[in-house]
Amino acid sequence: MSTFKAPKGTYDLIPPDSAKYLAVRDAIAAPLRNSGYGYIETPGFESVELFARGVGESTDIVTKEMYAFETKGGDRLALRPEGTASVLRAALEANLHKAGNLPVKLWYSGSYYRYERPQKGRYRHFSQVGAEAIGAEDPALDAELIILADQAYRSLGLRDFRILLNSLGDQECRPVYRAALQDFLRGLDLDEETLRRADINPLRVLDDKRDDVQKQLVGAPLLRDYLCDACKAYHEEVRELITAAGVSFEDDAKLVRGLDYYTRTTFEFVHDGLGSQSAVGGGGRYDGLSEMIGGPALPSVGWALGVDRTVLALEAEGVTLELPASTSVFAVPLGDEARRVLFGVVSELRRNGVAADFSYGAKGLKGAMKNANRSGARYTVVAGERDLAEGVVQLKDMESGEQVAVGVNEIVAELESRLS
Ligand code: ATP
Ligand code: MG
Repeated sequence: MSTFKAPKGTYDLIPPDSAKYLAVRDAIAAPLRNSGYGYIETPGFESVELFARGVGESTDIVTKEMYAFETKGGDRLALRPEGTASVLRAALEANLHKAGNLPVKLWYSGSYYRYERPQKGRYRHFSQVGAEAIGAEDPALDAELIILADQAYRSLGLRDFRILLNSLGDQECRPVYRAALQDFLRGLDLDEETLRRADINPLRVLDDKRDDVQKQLVGAPLLRDYLCDACKAYHEEVRELITAAGVSFEDDAKLVRGLDYYTRTTFEFVHDGLGSQSAVGGGGRYDGLSEMIGGPALPSVGWALGVDRTVLALEAEGVTLELPASTSVFAVPLGDEARRVLFGVVSELRRNGVAADFSYGAKGLKGAMKNANRSGARYTVVAGERDLAEGVVQLKDMESGEQVAVGVNEIVAELESRLS
């Protein structure tokens, strides 16, 4: 029986690879923390209703991918498939939008759950870092988020990603386009499910991945030819601000994204080394979402970047992150007295901010040195009875192999000065 098996579509993050994930999350969060975004954490589950309304009844996420269940108390809950609806719900609940300081800018990081067909880069449990700017309609805000995501990816060393940009219009111009698109789609040779989709959410048909569908979509009306003057001006300003910031992007008139709530600015980050799971992140403006979940009008914009796919993108580009060794000093005691002394040394090093570890368990010198090597520590401190009788410990530089005796009372200061 293989008992030790993570559930299908999931995987564990374990050392040393897990360090990469932490670094990626930190790198994505850093520009946000530096730009006025406050950290928010919401529950891993919410009422099904929130996602049904906030993500959209007709989306794949809600109809096919959501882990929904009924609790013993009879509540209908779902594991969160995405972050935006929860964050907006939390902001409304805490009345953050009434504090008179709009936009409310928030960032988050966590696990998300979708019942998908598992593939490389597509999992049932995955991780995102996201940002939302709630309660302001300002093209500079849309631009800010795109620029910050670009900065995050670049700080990691990623180069082969592209930013796709589009505008989905608003409640004034989208309905006109929607009707025109529906007219066009009705004339095509589509299967029943796709025809139904054309009825409920025709824009999403543009996103169909099948070749025979895409072939028929050549010549479909494009939203950019239907944008009202206000949407056109807004989009033009977003494009100008991004361009002025030196961030390049591609206009993609067919970019629609899977969630129902997007309006105006829509964007996706794709990485060309990832095959079919190419989206490393995406987002856009969602001016109508607050009202859709029962709140006041709060025009907002946000994005979510996939941590798992970002790590795959780094691998695809052959980028190795410069991760500091997790341990700087490894202590190897030989005998009981040495254990007490070196344990004290390790504790003091740690108090002083030096990453230190200790050889636990009764090990011989050989086994202990193997652990020291594996830890990646720059220095090893070894002490036996004879050393202690002389009031010293042996300090070994693991890079040069050089070894010197250092007084027990000087070892902490000596290590600190060597490591600084
Ligand atoms: P896709 O088109 O690949 O299904 P999506 O549009 O469903 O992506 P979003 O809801 O926009 O994805 O989520 C933002 C990001 O989260 C994606 O760009 C991707 O990097 C990541 N992501 C989404 N679903 C998964 C998944 N099942 N496994 C791993 N990462 C995912
Ligand atoms: Mg998806």
